Amino acid sequence: MSQDKPKAYVNTIGCQMNVYDSQILAGLLQNAGYEQTHDPDLADLVLCNTCAIRHKAQEKAYSFLGRFAGTRIKGKRPLTIMAGCVAQKEKEKAFARLPHLDLVLGTQAFGRFETHVKALIAGETRIVDTAPSENIFEGFPKDALAVKIQVSRFVTIMQGCENFCTYCVVPYVRGKERSRNPHAIVEEIEGLAGSGVREITLLGQNVNSYAGNNGQVSFADLLYLVSRVDGIDRIRFATSHPKDLSMDLIRAMKDIDKVCNHLHLPVQSGSSEILKRMNRKYDRDTYLKRISALRQACPDIALSTDIIVGFPGETISDFQQTMDLLETVEFDAVFAFAYSARSFTPAAKFSNQLDEQTKRDRLNTLLDFQEKITEKKNKAFVGKKVTVLVEGDSPKPRDGFVKKNKNTRQMFGRSGANKIVHFASDQAAGGDLVTLQIINAYPHSLWGEVCESD
Ligand code: SAM
Ligand code: SF4
Repeated sequence: MSQDKPKAYVNTIGCQMNVYDSQILAGLLQNAGYEQTHDPDLADLVLCNTCAIRHKAQEKAYSFLGRFAGTRIKGKRPLTIMAGCVAQKEKEKAFARLPHLDLVLGTQAFGRFETHVKALIAGETRIVDTAPSENIFEGFPKDALAVKIQVSRFVTIMQGCENFCTYCVVPYVRGKERSRNPHAIVEEIEGLAGSGVREITLLGQNVNSYAGNNGQVSFADLLYLVSRVDGIDRIRFATSHPKDLSMDLIRAMKDIDKVCNHLHLPVQSGSSEILKRMNRKYDRDTYLKRISALRQACPDIALSTDIIVGFPGETISDFQQTMDLLETVEFDAVFAFAYSARSFTPAAKFSNQLDEQTKRDRLNTLLDFQEKITEKKNKAFVGKKVTVLVEGDSPKPRDGFVKKNKNTRQMFGRSGANKIVHFASDQAAGGDLVTLQIINAYPHSLWGEVCESD
């Protein structure tokens, strides 16, 4: 590491799309002459890529950036940047709570980021850029500094959302739906494959409504294009909207071996009445029918979902219908959230808001219930063989594993069904595909042994 270059610290809050965006911003900072530091106290520039989806995430961003108001290093305070969804939502208002903020960079202003950084270095301050942009800016630096996992990478294929679910702030902070050019996507993935990446996750707020080349290339078409990239063994995608789970897409998932045997399909509620008031554009029955069609085509597919509990007006009977749906579908994983009222959204103005305690109680009841289902689904893997893409050494090796195994390293990988599997091996390396016999299952992971023939 050079001693002379100024240092940048990039903090990411929120979803996978934010992780991808942070890689782009880190790459642009590299272009502007910065090198990355993992210690914010050593940084000459601190950037927080923010999330506005729930109140808590927004507060986390304010609290993190608030730490940099005073002098830090070399008698100076660092340049401080708020980027992403909270920046887009708050605009100039961000200065009221963070007077020391130097740049408020909206979700569609990344193409102008380098110019703004140069202006900051030249002494300008309090820049706000939350202007919209019709197109997704292409040609971002691909070898960004912030990348940790090289085996598996995210690629955003579309931005924005026009579904206007009544609880959700995304359409107001991410703008209209815009799909990237399919050739630019394939070119980016070819570049990643060339640098050793084996798994790609295609990202979008509503990934399966992708419509490239002015609607001529569907998401199913894109999956076929990406599957032809040499070196890429696995393709995942998130997040899919149930209304866009077409038969064409189900066929593509069945046909393309590289597409992993897992789908994240947020249902949000098991009550048709709540789904209507959420403006989700499907009812309980339609969701269940799509799941059946999917399971008919791909019988062993692993499923995960998102749930919001405590939406305004949610009755005990509505909540029971959600619990009943979890029991019917038996998802492999559920990401559940207590409803959080967000500015701009219609649901925030609904009169029948639930109190925080009721939301928390329902959330805990649901999570306890799902944990048993997840464990049961994981136990069903015991005795089976699964192939994992090795990601690296397990961050927290299991106690006593060295004694019980002749190998000294504990590695982990992810199965096609998106299960984390730990195993002992001195030979495996990140990027390998290894077949494991599953010998134990836990609520959040599996334990396997390398098959002899491997
Ligand atoms: N586009 C995706 C979809 O349609 O399901 C989801 C995107 S959103 C970033 C991720 C999840 O956050 C949603 O599926 C929903 O469960 C949750 N979420 C969104 N707004 C929320 C709110 N106001 N309160 C609680 N959870 C919320
Ligand atoms: Fe938000 Fe609904 Fe769009 Fe998902 S589909 S990002 S929940 S508005």
